Amino acid sequence: METVALENKVENINTHRSNGKPKIAYFSMEIGINENIPTYSGGLGILAGDTLKSCADLNVPIVGVTLLSEKGYFYQEIDLDGNQIELPYNFNLDDFLKLLPCKTNVKIEDREITIRIWFYPVQGASGYIVPVFFLDTNVEGNSPYDREITKYLYGGDNRYRLAQEIVLGIGGVRAIDSLGYRNIDKYHMNEGHAALGTLELYDQFKDVEKVRNQCVFTTHTPVAAGHDQFDLSLAKSMIGDLLPNSLLHEFTFEHKLNMTRLALFFSHYVNGVAKKHGEVSRKMFPGYDIDSITNGVHTPTWVSEPFQRVFDKNLPGWRSDPYILRGAFGIDKAEIWAAHMEAKKKLIDFVNNRYNVGMNYDHFTIGFARRQTAYKRPELLISDPEKLMTIGEKAGPIQIIYGGKAHPKDGSGKEAIKKIFSTMKTIQGNVKIAYIHNYDIAMGKLITAGVDVWLNTPRRPKEASGTSGMKAAHNGVPQVSTLDGWWIEGRVENITGWAIGTRKSNERDSDDQNDRNDLYNKLETWIIPKFYNDRDNWIRTMRSCIAINASFFNTNRMIEQYVLNAYFM
Ligand SMILES: *Cc1c(COP(=O)(O)O)cnc(C)c1O
Repeated sequence: METVALENKVENINTHRSNGKPKIAYFSMEIGINENIPTYSGGLGILAGDTLKSCADLNVPIVGVTLLSEKGYFYQEIDLDGNQIELPYNFNLDDFLKLLPCKTNVKIEDREITIRIWFYPVQGASGYIVPVFFLDTNVEGNSPYDREITKYLYGGDNRYRLAQEIVLGIGGVRAIDSLGYRNIDKYHMNEGHAALGTLELYDQFKDVEKVRNQCVFTTHTPVAAGHDQFDLSLAKSMIGDLLPNSLLHEFTFEHKLNMTRLALFFSHYVNGVAKKHGEVSRKMFPGYDIDSITNGVHTPTWVSEPFQRVFDKNLPGWRSDPYILRGAFGIDKAEIWAAHMEAKKKLIDFVNNRYNVGMNYDHFTIGFARRQTAYKRPELLISDPEKLMTIGEKAGPIQIIYGGKAHPKDGSGKEAIKKIFSTMKTIQGNVKIAYIHNYDIAMGKLITAGVDVWLNTPRRPKEASGTSGMKAAHNGVPQVSTLDGWWIEGRVENITGWAIGTRKSNERDSDDQNDRNDLYNKLETWIIPKFYNDRDNWIRTMRSCIAINASFFNTNRMIEQYVLNAYFM
């Protein structure tokens, strides 16, 4: 974005503010708002970005608050053996963000830390601007340690992480104050990372009910071990007086300060991110009233260019009102297929040029790309290479495109990448496999639109929602997935995609053996034959993905539910 345009938009934020708007402040440790701003790690951050984009499209008076994470999550390279190499991102702030003159500060241990604020304007379909504020401690006068607090997303140890959460939560609430916003009705915490903001509000109001009236909390983690928590002694020494002794027992769990409990205690509205996740959360936190609002994706961001042209022609108005995509049932099948092949060629050309894999435009192509971590089971599909090769011989040729980063401390996630690389070598002559490095928003657009089927294999019930299959649906790409997260709501068997796992096994937690067999069975007897031998019906399935799933699993519908159920209460 040009600097001139940015200057104009800063003028806009001033009018914005003096109009008495906005009313909602949305806090997220990561926000993936622009494919050139690397301040996100995966689904959580992209959801936050898509949420704010839809708010801008719908004129919802909201501001976003996040950390600068100047060096990103990390830039991923992978060597020939599949070892992940983590490099700091080189990102030119000034090209995208505008440094604002106002500053704020927080106290950590006994140090006063200055925070500066960068601004990014998210412009909606009709010009409305949602500001996003990036908090940055790399300020002269702060100690060398403190200057690093907002450098690396999810980097460092517990002390570093707690410092980040103090900056995001407490610093975030103060930043909103110092920017002059006086009419914030709701503070929305996207996951527990920003929960310390409630302590700043409690310090201002001295009244639990008053804080509760203003706080909304979205939880994203269906497993107890995944919730952020800190040793009480560390928390007390770092947070100091803002941690109220009289209430401490309310948010202490197993002798630790638990960010989920803190957010639950201070929020009047709490939700999970899919119906099933709401149920799981209610069981995990008995006594709290937990609703659910199923995630979505920002429609205009995730529809590929060829499908944008098809929708512009057949379904005008779809960008501002994605419900219109219901009408996809009426689009000519040849048009759907032509758009798909255009998106697919773009992807296949990219992987062939970049990774020298010799993939074929006409071969059945499976996509799997997301954060690489054990519960998502990235290696399930290739766990029996012999079987996979046999399926390819019997049912028709198979190609697989992978991508995704493993957290630097996630040993099993890194092992999964190595396993994919070693399998790649043994079956390359038969099943072609490519692994795209440094999976990010731009690669996400390319892969979710360009494959024939999207694969999702989380271990039940660990996937709160998942969103990449929704991006695929926006491009007519069906999903094959375990029945977890959003897929329980989005799957109509053989019409929007396929479930992995036999009916009985779907009532229980996942069993790898059972799921693997069922995945191979579905591929061999249903999915691949339909792709190669029943193209007409295959394209009907593609259309149903758009009509049934894209029209619903989008952030416009999602934010309307937040406005009604969470913000407007
Ligand atoms: C959508 C997206 C994700 C989320 O993927 P899930 O399958 O929902 O886990 C992660 N990373 C990137 C770059 C994405 O675009």
